[in-house]
Amino acid sequence: MFTLTQDQIAIREMARDFANAEIAPFAVDWDEKKHFPVDTLRAAAALGMGGIYVQDDVGGSGLSRLDAALIFEALATGCPGTAAFLSIHNMATWMIDRFGDEDQRATWVPRLTTMEHIASYCLTEPGAGSDAAALKTKAVRDGEYYVVDGQKQFISGAGASDIYVVMVRTGGDGPKGISTLVIEAGTPGLSFGANEKKMGWNVQPTRAVIFEGVRVPVQNRLGAEGDGFKIAMAGLDGGRLNIGACSLGGAQAALDKTLAYMRERKAFGQRLDAFQALQFRLADMATELEVARTFLWRAAAALDAKTPDATKLCAMAKRFATDAGFNVANEALQLHGGYGYLADYGVEKIVRDLRVHQILEGTNEIMRLIISRALIAQGN
Ligand SMILES: Cc1cc2nc3c(=O)[nH]c(=O)nc-3n(C[C@H](O)[C@H](O)[C@H](O)COP(=O)(O)OP(=O)(O)OC[C@H]3O[C@@H](n4cnc5c(N)ncnc54)[C@H](O)[C@@H]3O)c2cc1C
Repeated sequence: MFTLTQDQIAIREMARDFANAEIAPFAVDWDEKKHFPVDTLRAAAALGMGGIYVQDDVGGSGLSRLDAALIFEALATGCPGTAAFLSIHNMATWMIDRFGDEDQRATWVPRLTTMEHIASYCLTEPGAGSDAAALKTKAVRDGEYYVVDGQKQFISGAGASDIYVVMVRTGGDGPKGISTLVIEAGTPGLSFGANEKKMGWNVQPTRAVIFEGVRVPVQNRLGAEGDGFKIAMAGLDGGRLNIGACSLGGAQAALDKTLAYMRERKAFGQRLDAFQALQFRLADMATELEVARTFLWRAAAALDAKTPDATKLCAMAKRFATDAGFNVANEALQLHGGYGYLADYGVEKIVRDLRVHQILEGTNEIMRLIISRALIAQGN
């Protein structure tokens, strides 16, 4: 389980080659211009990365969560923000593939796996972030339609996406009153807020999604009424692994840049990489990343095997990998001295991009909540 197969090595190399050629050379410029690289995402999809763990009858690649972790780490070496958006698209697409009926899968998924259409995941609201089960966006039944009113906050890809997988309240308070609807762009009453000004992740738009009397056919509901929270959380198990993998890729790129820089840069008459104090920091950075990577693979294997502790392991992996990734990238910036603070070196962008991975898809405090609840339940 700690050795990759030949196929996995080939998949990782394919993603790494794509990142080196199609993403890395442009990432700093995209960040500066706030450019959302849709054409590049479509090119990734043409290589099978639009529906990595989606079934192949609807155009998916039918790969495992471990394969996905390898792909997202490799892509994020080019740009964590671009790789992370692809991971959200993959998560939303998988939710339709996994919980949709045959008609729903055939209607939406083939154009999502090619990324002719792009998908967003809509859970967070202005008054419900960590406490997602308190969401208030209402969907009231009116014959063969739901009428949706409310607002989602911080939605990645909003305004640019074609398909919105939206968690809404169809019943009473709490998680059991939540359902999942697929809402298409262009539906009357659906609108978007301004593109948020952010610290990082500037290569993808983040907007509020506003619903004012949006009429959505009942046939757009995934699963039964009341299944929505379960569906949302199932998406996030894999999403958290992918975000963790994006942190590893970004941090690995920062470490690689640091090794190259320290070979060239001199101080006090010697190369930076000749100072033992700095060598030890490199050793710690590489060790942290390797520990995080190995554990993330273990969590991915548990999700593939659907073991009972998979959710807990995914939360542990997300918490550990995103903290390790941010710390390593921040150390890399420090080892670049003043140059690390300049945009042209590409390290400060990685630090800015990785910071949000500790916040979204459940904050790292909420990961601790999930882990400790599982431990206490086990003890009882
Ligand atoms: C750039 C960006 C993109 C995003 N993309 C998406 C997206 O595509 N779709 C989507 O649905 N959401 C998205 N989000 C939202 C993100 O998931 C939320 O911001 C996150 O879940 C935290 O919610 P909040 O911001 O409301 O913080 P709050 O829930 O208000 O939390 C504030 C602080 O309190 C802590 N806290 C809260 N409750 C507890 C507790 N019980 N115990 C201990 N600490 C606690 C939190 O950890 C945090 O530190 C995105 C966010 C950002 C910044």
